[in-house]
Amino acid sequence: MTTTHSEELINGDVSFWVRDAGWPTPRAPLPGDLDVDVAIVGGGLTGLWTAYYLKQERPDWEIVVIEREFCGFGASGRNGGWMSAEPAGPFGRYAADRGVEAALAMQQAMFGAVRESVDVAHREGFGDAVDETGLIHVATSQAGLARAHKHVQEMKQQGWGENDVHTLTGPELLRRVNVDGALGGYWTPHCARVHPAKYTFGVAAAVERLGVRIYEQTTATALEPHKVVTDRGDVTAHAVVRALEGYTVSLPAEPRTLLPMNSSLVITEPLTQQQLDSIGWAGAELLGDTAHSFSYLQLTADHRIAIGGRGKPYDFGSRFDRGGRTAEFGIDLIGERLVQLFPSLEGIRLEQTWTGVLGVPRDWSAAVNYDAGTGLASAGGYVGHGLSGTNLAGRTLRDLILGHDTELTRLPWTGRKARHWEVEPLRWIGATGLYKAYRWADQRENSSDSPSTSVIAKVADRIAGR
Ligand SMILES: Cc1cc2nc3c(=O)[nH]c(=O)nc-3n(C[C@H](O)[C@H](O)[C@H](O)COP(=O)(O)OP(=O)(O)OC[C@H]3O[C@@H](n4cnc5c(N)ncnc54)[C@H](O)[C@@H]3O)c2cc1C
Repeated sequence: MTTTHSEELINGDVSFWVRDAGWPTPRAPLPGDLDVDVAIVGGGLTGLWTAYYLKQERPDWEIVVIEREFCGFGASGRNGGWMSAEPAGPFGRYAADRGVEAALAMQQAMFGAVRESVDVAHREGFGDAVDETGLIHVATSQAGLARAHKHVQEMKQQGWGENDVHTLTGPELLRRVNVDGALGGYWTPHCARVHPAKYTFGVAAAVERLGVRIYEQTTATALEPHKVVTDRGDVTAHAVVRALEGYTVSLPAEPRTLLPMNSSLVITEPLTQQQLDSIGWAGAELLGDTAHSFSYLQLTADHRIAIGGRGKPYDFGSRFDRGGRTAEFGIDLIGERLVQLFPSLEGIRLEQTWTGVLGVPRDWSAAVNYDAGTGLASAGGYVGHGLSGTNLAGRTLRDLILGHDTELTRLPWTGRKARHWEVEPLRWIGATGLYKAYRWADQRENSSDSPSTSVIAKVADRIAGR
C-alpha cells in the first residue's frame, strides 16, 4: 500500500502551515542593549501567551519577546493542530506528587484552557484558525480497543464526565469516519482543530497590538539572573522567561533539561469529492489511533489530510534539523499508515513533509517555574500536548511573576523540577529503544491480535512515564 511522493514533495521548509498562512517577513532584531520589566525568550505559544496575559494585567510594563527566527518557527507553527484537553503530564504523576485533588484541578484547568484558547482566537480576530470539531480515537486491533476502553475508564476517574468523553462501538465510529478495520474507540468534544501557523501568527499580532515589542532574528545565548545575553545585545529585566521547549538544548547551560524529540507530519494534496465520500469524516474531528507508536490526523479546512507520527524519534547528541527535514523512512512509515487507515486513498500525492521538536522532560511531565530571587521563569516539557497547555502556562506565569497566589499557581505542574536526562549514549539508547519497542509491539498486536504481546510496550510505557 503506497502514497505517491516524488521530487515535487517539499521536505522541511518549516511546515505546510507556515507556507499556507504566508511566509512572514521577520520583525526587526533587537537594536542593542535594553532594560525592561520582562524579557521572554522564545516566540512560540508559551512565550506569546505569557506576554499576552502579563501585558493585559500590567499595561505599564515594558515586555519584550526575543525570537531567533520568527514567531511560529518552532513547534507552535509545525504541530498537528490538536488543541486538546489532555494534560501535558500523566495524572498519576501529578496526583502522586501533589495529591488527587490537585491532579483533578489540573484536568479542569485543561478544559478551561481549550475554552480560553478558542475564545481568545475569536475575540482577537483569528477565529478562522480554529474549529471545535472534537476528537476521535480509533482502535484497529483488539488490544488497541481494550486500551481505549481502559483509558476512558481512567479518564472518568480523572474528572471527565459523561458528556466529556464516551466510547464508540465499531458501527458508531464508522458512521463518523470510515477507517479500515475500525473496531471502536472513543470520542470527546474537548478538542479543537487548529491551523497552527495562522493561530500562532494571530496570537503574535494580538500581543503586538497590546504594546509588547517582539524582536525576531535575535539569538539568546545565555539566560542569567535578571539578564538575557543575545547576539544583538544584553537585555536586563525584572523577570526572564525561558520559553524554548525543544530548543532549550541550544542554550549551553541546558544540554540535558529537555530532550528534543522529533515528530513528523506529511500532508496530502486536497482530496477529491469522491475520496471525501469514501472516507466519510464529515465532522472533521481530529483523529488518532490507539497504536503504541501513535499517529495523529486532521482533515484540514481545505480537505487535505495531515498525518503525523514518530519517524526517527531522536538523533544522537540531541541534534536536529532546524529546517525540519523528515528522514525518508519516516515519510514512508507515515504514508503507509495513512493508506492502512484509508485504503481508498492508495496513490494519493503527498505535498509536503516536515519535522519539529517536542520538549521532553525526564519525568515526561510539563512544568512551570518562577524564582522571584533570580527572576528566572520557565514553562514547557509538554511533550505532544502543548497547544492548549501553553495557554494555561502563560496565565500561570503571569500570576507567578506578579506574585499572586491563585488557583493557577497551585496547579501541580508549578514548581516541578525533573532530573536531567542521562549523558550519551544512554539518552540515545533510551529514546530510540523506546520507539523500536512500540513499533515491535504494534506489529505483534496487528498480526496476533493478542494483548499479551504488550509486555514490551508496558516496559516502554514505564520509560515514557505513561
Ligand atoms: C510535529 C509536532 C506535532 C505536534 N502536535 C501537537 C498537537 O497536535 N497538539 C498539541 O497540543 N501539541 C502538539 N505538539 C506540541 C506543541 O506544538 C508544543 O508543545 C508547543 O507548540 C510548544 O510551544 P512553545 O512556545 O513552548 O515552543 P516552540 O513553539 O517550539 O517555540 C520556541 C521558540 O524559541 C525559538 N528559539 C529557539 N532557540 C532560541 C534562542 N536561542 N533564542 C531565541 N529564540 C529561540 C524558536 O525559534 C521557537 O520559535 C506538536 C509538536 C510538534 C513538533
